[in-house]
This record gives sequence, structure tokens and C-alpha cells, in this order.
Amino acid sequence: MKVIVFSTREFEKKYLISANTTSLELVMVTESLSLNTVHLAKGAGVVCIFTGDDASAPVLVKLKEYNIKYIAVRATGFDHVDLKKAAALGITVANVPDYSPFSIAEHAIGLMLALIRKLTLAYQQTQRYNFKIDNLLGSTLHHKTVGIVGTGKIGSAVTQILSGFDCNLIGYDKIRNEQLISKYQLHYADLKTLCKNSDIITLHLPLNERTEYLINKEMIDFMRQGVMIINTARGGIVNTQDIIEGIEKGKIGYYGADVYEHEKDVFFYDHSEKKVNDPLLKKLLSYSNVLITPHQAFATKEALNNIAVTIFKNINCWALQQKGPHELHPDLGTENDNIEQESLNL
Ligand code: NAD
Repeated sequence: MKVIVFSTREFEKKYLISANTTSLELVMVTESLSLNTVHLAKGAGVVCIFTGDDASAPVLVKLKEYNIKYIAVRATGFDHVDLKKAAALGITVANVPDYSPFSIAEHAIGLMLALIRKLTLAYQQTQRYNFKIDNLLGSTLHHKTVGIVGTGKIGSAVTQILSGFDCNLIGYDKIRNEQLISKYQLHYADLKTLCKNSDIITLHLPLNERTEYLINKEMIDFMRQGVMIINTARGGIVNTQDIIEGIEKGKIGYYGADVYEHEKDVFFYDHSEKKVNDPLLKKLLSYSNVLITPHQAFATKEALNNIAVTIFKNINCWALQQKGPHELHPDLGTENDNIEQESLNL
């Protein structure tokens, strides 16, 4: 069986090749999946996609025409896949839910520390042989109150790490994780209370119709003056325009993000020689108290290996007509997504 891997990056090839223990025919293309490139899937049995690929209804209809019956998402987030349409067309979709929560959690902590201790500014200055520290005054993470929005796998890892910094921890989630309460003294609260009481707010929710623009002007107004917001989840969970307004007013003291609302076709590519016509991104990148990384939180050797191994397990399971553990229910991310509770296994 042929597996076409869209949006293949050089760094992941060797992991995909070595995890392909059943010798499926792998066709790795750099193109991302879209209406313009979907024809590349002709003749394949399985399509493997990443976060920037387009698996919306019109693309899925084309895939169905080419007799594709399985989509392997090599990521946790599946907000770019129309699950209902896929189910209606008889296309099974599976993701990789648990490949390395600590990869993303540690990146979130890295953003926090880099911002709170002004490490990027220090780097820029020392590169120019400027060793003054007058503008490098930071704060400790120790004893800060951190609001963890989404206490699933990644939020739990963040909780565990931050408890080592003796932070006061507030959690927000539709499902309480009792272990985090007993083990790390995390207190659950509603989002408004979390916003009001946190020095740092870190986002670890999926993007869906209920979480889109969850962090908006109204929520930012509740936050503490000089709050730090960290987003390693999905760009669309925050309203970027409102974040910029918050930064301009000084309400948001720091913003660290590994994701961006309009990152598609921008992140993962080198645009240093071309002009990116995106005023919002340009504005964000102009602030010294903002640190943007290019959706790299997942990019560790450990994560890439786990992703590749899980993908082939998923595909082989499906090929043997067995129900794989990571098949996505069409109701996920909708008003009826209580099904998520079952799959969380917290
Ligand atoms: P998870 O499913 O384990 O946890 C998500 C949590 O969000 C769950 O506890 C769930 O109950 C909660 N939740 C969902 N919708 C909610 C709502 N409307 N209100 C309150 N709580 C809600 O997922 P995870 O593995 O922790 O990943 C979280 C997100 O991180 C992913 O969906 C993905 O978008 C993002 N992610 C980013 C990267 C990266 O490289 N930057 C890598 C992996 C995952």
C-alpha cells in the first residue's frame, strides 16, 4: 500500500523511514495538501498530513474520489480536518495524541524564562559586545501564580514542571484532573478567575468552535497589569489584534507564542528573502517583549520518533481492519464533544 506524506520536512524523513517496519510504500512530498495538490494522492491508499495541510470538505471530497479511506494526522491537533465530512465520506482519521507532552511543555517554560529574564534581548546585545545590564532587569518564576488553561496531557506536564519552581497553580479545564490537585496543589477555577489572579497564563487547549478567540479583549481586561501570556497551543485560540492592543496599552507585559493565527504558508518556510505581507505578524515581531517561535515546540528527536512510530501503528492497525486507539470521532470539537472525556484517559 502506498502512503503519501504531504508537507514532509527534511528533519522528519529519517524517523518516518525507520518507523516503517512493514515496508509500506512511502511517497514523501514537500507540497502541503490543498485543492491544488490533492491530485498527488492519486493511487495512494493512505494520506499522511501535518498541521498546515488543508483537509477541509472540498479536499476530502477529492480524496474520496481517489479512493482514499484513511488520513493519518502526524500531530495532536486536528482543527484543520473536517471530521464530520470525513466520517460522512467514509474516511477514517487518526491523530497522534500523546507523542511527547514534555516537548511542548518544556518549550512553553522556555518561552516563559526567556521572556521573564529578557534572554533574547541579552543575546542581541552581547552579540554586539554590549555587556551592560541596565535594561535586562527580570523577575523570578519562583512563587509566581501561573494559570494553566487546558490541563490535559501538555497542561499536566506544564503543571508538573512549574510545581518545581514553587509556582502557585490555577487550572481551567472542562474536565478536572484530580491528580494535579493532590500532587501539585493545582486549584481549578473558571477562566475569569484564572485571568484575574495569574501573573502568567499559558494555553494548552485544542482549537475548536468553543475555544476560538477564547483569549480576547474581554478576557484580557480581566487580567493583571503586565501579565505574561504564553501560547503553544494554536494561534486561533487568541485574538491577535486584541493581544496587540493589550501590548500597546501595557496590559500585556510579555507575549510568547509558538503558534500564530495566520501561520499557514508562513511558518515552516524561510521568508527572509521575500516580503511577508502580514501587518499583524509584523507588529508582533516589532516588540521586544514578544517572542515568537515558528511552531517548533513539537520538534524534538523524542517527539519525532514517537510520532513516526505511532503513525505506522495506526495505519497498520487500520490495514488489518482493527479499530485503532487514535481514531477521531466526528463529534470532537463540536457541541457534542463529551466523547473527548473518554479519549482523555486522565
Ligand atoms: P489534551 O487533549 O490532552 O488536552 C486538552 C485539554 O483541553 C483537555 O483536558 C480538554 O478537556 C481541554 N478542553 C478542550 N476543550 C475545552 C473547552 N472548550 N473548555 C475547557 N477545556 C477544554 O491535548 P494536549 O496533548 O495537551 O494538546 C493541547 C493542544 O496543544 C493540542 O490540541 C494542539 O493544538 C497543541 N499542540 C501544539 C504543539 C506545538 O508544537 N506547538 C504540539 C502539540 C500540541
